[in-house]
Amino acid sequence: MNNELREKVCERFCSYYKPSRAGESACLGFLVIQHLAGRDRVIEIPPPGAGQPGAAADRELCGYCGYRAGDCDFAAGIAGAPPCGGFVLIGLLLQKGIVTSAEVLDAARSLHRAAE
Ligand code: SF4
Repeated sequence: MNNELREKVCERFCSYYKPSRAGESACLGFLVIQHLAGRDRVIEIPPPGAGQPGAAADRELCGYCGYRAGDCDFAAGIAGAPPCGGFVLIGLLLQKGIVTSAEVLDAARSLHRAAE
């Protein structure tokens, strides 16, 4: 896991982030951002704030995430459970037009295929 990105994404955006478990594997939302940011483009990570989308953002991403079955309260539909920080940030990047949903879903599919 890229430490600078972890600080920018997990620590700032994720309600589930625990510094003591920083070495553990990342959720798909984080991996998609890492994948997109690793290409020949700079993705400026905006600060979290009032513009943050809520849990109503597109859930299609979750369909490719290994945490969906059993480990993600948001994906399980538990009332009030927020999505992971990667999901929140992707929603914000989509809202700002910094990434497109096609890019996000392409990245999610290819990461999912690589993990199989
Ligand atoms: S909200 Fe849950 S299922 Fe969706 S990408 Fe994040 S960890 Fe995975």
